[in-house]
Amino acid sequence: MSLTNMPDASCADTLSRFTFDDCAVRGEHVLLQNSFQELLAVHHYPPVVANVLGELSAAACLLAETIKFDGTLTLQVRSEGEIPLIMTEVTNQQSYRAIARQAQEATSEDFATLFTNGTLCLTVQPRSGKPYQGIVSLDGNSLASSLGNYFEQSEQLATRLWLFADKQRAGGMLLQQMPGDNSSDQWLHLIQMANTLSAQELLGLPREELLYRLYHQEALRLHPQKTVQFQCTCSHERLEAVLLSLGEAELRDILAERSSIDVNCEFCNRFYQFSESDIDALLGKQTPRDAH
Ligand SMILES: [Zn+2]
Repeated sequence: MSLTNMPDASCADTLSRFTFDDCAVRGEHVLLQNSFQELLAVHHYPPVVANVLGELSAAACLLAETIKFDGTLTLQVRSEGEIPLIMTEVTNQQSYRAIARQAQEATSEDFATLFTNGTLCLTVQPRSGKPYQGIVSLDGNSLASSLGNYFEQSEQLATRLWLFADKQRAGGMLLQQMPGDNSSDQWLHLIQMANTLSAQELLGLPREELLYRLYHQEALRLHPQKTVQFQCTCSHERLEAVLLSLGEAELRDILAERSSIDVNCEFCNRFYQFSESDIDALLGKQTPRDAH
């Protein structure tokens, strides 16, 4: 088999589960291509930031498949390094959005310099009910190893991730040991094989070929793929809620200086405009008339 430069279109922007007949281990594979380019087109991030944004997005998509939820899952890293804040939010419908803040100067190739004193926060926000949040310090030397540590600590599930990204694509693979009749030899063997994965293979091979390379000696079952897309969850209603949270005085102050309140969504750059009468309606009031 030869390395293909680009996976065929049917493989890009998909998320697939695979399982092994002979051991209680599940795997997930994700490859983001068009969706990742759409994401990068919104902002002009330095290459190193685009890279970790890709890895974080791939990770969020993988994790969203291993946790049952109805709403959104957010992975967020805060640090005192060159990338103070980076986050990806993915819905249970496999659409995601992502952003890095104040990272325009980031250039380091060193993980610890990018994320000095970093913490990783995973939040699951159900459509109804209370959010669930878990936080770990970013003590690995990569996002993948930090996330693995997170699962071992918080979920007591042995979990390993492999994440890669380049300017075009982001991809990832996850292995997770399920409760059950497991041999640690088998688990270690599956990990050892996955450790041989190169960025070129993960980003460049169709999933069938990739999994064949790694696990052709195993009885592997590949489940139907799901489509992943870049999609922002912003809406007029959501922004109304944000505006309301600012309070009437603040809104009136802004309107005193301009004829409308203009907002660009920081995730997708979509433009929203609220006129004074929109704001009045929002505040449940008639347009106040000056008494002169
Ligand atoms: Zn948006």
